Amino acid sequence: LPKDFQEALPVLEQIEQAGFQAYFVGGSVRDHILGLPIHDVDIATSAYPEEIKKIFKRTVDTGIQHGTVTVLMGDDAYEVTTFRTESGYQDFRRPDKVTFVRSLEDDLKRRDFTINALAVDLNGNVIDKFDGLKDLDKKVIRAVGKAEERFHEDALRMMRAVRFQAQLNFKIEEQTSQAIADNAPLLEKIAIERIREEFVKLLLSKSWQTGLGDFLKLGLSEYCPGFKDQKLELEELLEPKDKYFIDEDEAWVAIGYVLSLNHDEFNRFLRDWKVSNKTRETSVDTLKLLHLFESQDFDLWNIYKLGTKNFGRVIELCKMFGIEFDYQGLNQKVDQISIKNSHDLKLSGKDICDILGVKPGPIIGKSMSQIERAVVEGNVSNNFDELRHYLLSNQ
Ligand code: ATP
Ligand code: MG
Repeated sequence: LPKDFQEALPVLEQIEQAGFQAYFVGGSVRDHILGLPIHDVDIATSAYPEEIKKIFKRTVDTGIQHGTVTVLMGDDAYEVTTFRTESGYQDFRRPDKVTFVRSLEDDLKRRDFTINALAVDLNGNVIDKFDGLKDLDKKVIRAVGKAEERFHEDALRMMRAVRFQAQLNFKIEEQTSQAIADNAPLLEKIAIERIREEFVKLLLSKSWQTGLGDFLKLGLSEYCPGFKDQKLELEELLEPKDKYFIDEDEAWVAIGYVLSLNHDEFNRFLRDWKVSNKTRETSVDTLKLLHLFESQDFDLWNIYKLGTKNFGRVIELCKMFGIEFDYQGLNQKVDQISIKNSHDLKLSGKDICDILGVKPGPIIGKSMSQIERAVVEGNVSNNFDELRHYLLSNQ
């Protein structure tokens, strides 16, 4: 057993000693067999949540109604989830009813893909009820049971399929991919936050172009915000080779660029995807910069306002899209700017009040911006006397 499983072994042992079954399940088993790093170790058990809480001293009710209790052991935390079946799914996204069961096989049956439906016991034996090992070997993503039914139960699984494809560089098995193509419209039933989470994981994966390719080909994109009828435009992203996104923000800008969105449209697009405010603001500024670079419009005030902190991303994106720009010319421009932000000005708001003999108010902010712009554009140098003179002569 790998180190991560070894460390969690006492959890399994204590559950077994209390007379229940316990297994490692899910992504950690898959990643272990593939020789990939494991992130979180998930444990499934025949014990009910109340029984788990009796076995361990330190527990947290993480999602007790779904059967999940977090067991704290030393500095580690393990999610222990009772075997369960799910039924209902009238809304294509979550079960109406979760039932705790005592059988591992029933629990594995409700899982999305065969490669995610493997379990490992405390002796390291792999329990493989759905030929997940074979699919791991063949590098195939295959739904457990009838793909069509599984996507009707929870349409998010279609996004998970292309996400795992991107992460693992696997193929989606024929019937599974046919079922995605047939049921893609069901994606509209899923909360955008959940779709986004899978989509961002896809974009930040090693084989993101493979995953994105099927996301487009199977028609999932048609049911995502801003992507309707944009397949051709988005396919432009599949062309550059050896391109990886450093972060979510960079990936969104690449998308905004191929969709030819203007800055307001891009801002709205990112709101529709419900990305964080920080990601939205950074991405909009970065797209603005990219457009500046593209038009070689290195206006000092624009460069200053958009900030040099996003230059790294923009330079990467220029490479991606074959946008040429005068790097030296840009650097010269940047070097000309003598301040980083308004705090660097040698004249404060209070100074302005004193010089003009006025009380604090909106006029101070206005004068301040005027001075800031003049300094950035090199029309006045940043020292007290010159700024004072500039202020008085521009009233
Ligand atoms: P990751 O590496 O991203 O954590 P993972 O396979 O562990 O991948 P999780 O979302 O952490 O994915 O889910 C853990 C396990 O729970 C999965 O391996 C799968 O067995 C099951 N699972 C998760 N989401 C679903 C779903 N929507 N439908 C069915 N089974 C699911
Ligand atoms: Mg996981």
